[in-house]
Amino acid sequence: MPNADAEKRKAQVRCLNCFERFFPEPGQAQARCPGCSMEWRLTWTGPHSVKVRGPVWDKIPR
Ligand SMILES: [Zn+2]
Repeated sequence: MPNADAEKRKAQVRCLNCFERFFPEPGQAQARCPGCSMEWRLTWTGPHSVKVRGPVWDKIPR
């Protein structure tokens, strides 16, 4: 079995606004940062591998 910790690290994203690390639900298209409440669009390159594509512009807190 591959290294479970390495797999888990790939399933986390880092907020590009406040650099908080968090774990979106697998398959989630968007996720809200628990640190600053920014919403981010996500791309899943695998079932446990996720990247931030960019902010959800219409959900930016004002
Ligand atoms: Zn944040």
